[in-house]
Amino acid sequence: MSVSPAFARDIDGKAIAAQVLSEVKDEVGALARQQIHPALAVLLIGDDAASQVYVRNKLLRAEEVGIHSLEYRLPANTTQAHVLTLIAQLNADPAVNGILVQLPLPSQIQEHIVIQAIDPIKDVDGFHRQNVGGLVQGATVLTPCTPSGCMRLLYDTCGDLSGLHAVVIGRSNIVGKPMATLLLQANCSVSVVHSRSVDAAALCRMADIVVVAVGRPQMIDASWLKAGAVVIDVGINRIETQTGSRLVGDVDYVSARTVASAITPVPGGVGPMTIAYLLKNTVIATRLQLEESRTRAPEPQFA
Ligand code: NAD
Repeated sequence: MSVSPAFARDIDGKAIAAQVLSEVKDEVGALARQQIHPALAVLLIGDDAASQVYVRNKLLRAEEVGIHSLEYRLPANTTQAHVLTLIAQLNADPAVNGILVQLPLPSQIQEHIVIQAIDPIKDVDGFHRQNVGGLVQGATVLTPCTPSGCMRLLYDTCGDLSGLHAVVIGRSNIVGKPMATLLLQANCSVSVVHSRSVDAAALCRMADIVVVAVGRPQMIDASWLKAGAVVIDVGINRIETQTGSRLVGDVDYVSARTVASAITPVPGGVGPMTIAYLLKNTVIATRLQLEESRTRAPEPQFA
């Protein structure tokens, strides 16, 4: 790794996401020439303000790349049984290629039951246990969008990742754990740091790559970083300011960029990549379904 410059360069998630979206648009165009039109169903349950913004952005980007979207807005008091019935209908509908249930869910609905109900081949979030297991074994599966987006940012920034030491801070099922698995597959030496780690900062200071997904505003500053480290900040936190509020990451950007060689800003770093990889996953899911329908043995014909 190179020695740290005076200030880290920004890793431009918006620009790299635009490249991914352009690739997705080309693939959607190629599928359209075969009369195949990818469609994504998005379920938004309840009134969570952040979820409404995330869903709106996902649907807008889907439209831009030519992916048809179906939006299901359900009230906060929707029963789990109702959600499961809807998912069963979407699973059975050959015109629907991807199903996304926006999290978090209202308290009467159990997240793991809903996720497990989605057909794994339509699970564009990559949260179903079949996809999680396949990811660990290195199979071709639908991989969680945020970690996939972070990997693309890292390849773009570092090139080959083999042999680099990566520290992932956070061990959630949707970011930390799949991120660590993907880094391992890219031949990094991987450490996962979490709320029970002893001297997390010392572990982090050994890392060439630091991926932070904790959900604590500006927790990681320059004192956690080795000179020249590449920093990916997954966190999105809204903090109050004297003039209102603003979004910050889990990394103290101003402090960290005095030591790091490259860093993702918040906003404009990981966020746009998550959406781009959701749409990429929708195309991958469509292709997997096409392949499955072609290889499925024909029904026996009886005279
Ligand atoms: P989570 O709450 O599920 O997990 C947080 C993890 O941080 C836990 O594993 C916990 O062990 C660890 N942790 C907590 N305190 C710690 C400490 N003091 N030291 C070390 N580790 C600690 O959160 P999540 O769903 O993984 O999300 C993390 C952040 O990323 C949030 O701010 C979330 O909003 C954001 N996020 C952003 C995107 C995106 O697209 N940019 C996507 C998903 C999540």
